[in-house]
Amino acid sequence: MVMGTYRPLKRRTMQWFSKDGPMVIFFPLILKQLFHLGRLYPWPKPEHCPRCGSHRLWGHGFVTAYFDGFDQPFFLKRYRCPNCRCVLRLRPSGYFKRFQSPVATIRCSIAQKTKAGHWLPGLSRSRQCHWLRSLCKRIKAYLTDTWNLGAVAAFDYLLMKGQTPVSRAI
Ligand SMILES: [Zn+2]
Repeated sequence: MVMGTYRPLKRRTMQWFSKDGPMVIFFPLILKQLFHLGRLYPWPKPEHCPRCGSHRLWGHGFVTAYFDGFDQPFFLKRYRCPNCRCVLRLRPSGYFKRFQSPVATIRCSIAQKTKAGHWLPGLSRSRQCHWLRSLCKRIKAYLTDTWNLGAVAAFDYLLMKGQTPVSRAI
């Protein structure tokens, strides 16, 4: 790990992730509006398929997802490319795949625990503990054992590399 490669996060409007499974497009939006409009929310349509470049994309229904602070599920739009059969899933930016808490909250929890020694109030302790444990595992797997810039810097670095820093799967 070279220190010079660490840069602070830049805000991105859209990101493509192409790990196994559907491609996820993160899109900046106001969660409350999405909640109120449900399936009627005017989701944007990507200009082309990120996998094969085809300009034809078909609507492919919705998937539901839960986010902190809302007791009802959200409807997240999907598209399908008829050319390469790739499925695209749109998601609000600021949230990791399969995580209900905002990225900012998770980062804040890790900072609080590693710098001040206690968890964030109002959030399940076991969930926060799980985030930190997963991050530590990831630091061992992807950074070196001698990483000494702290957990928050590791979180930012892994995020910049397109990883979910607190994902259990390595
Ligand atoms: Zn395609």
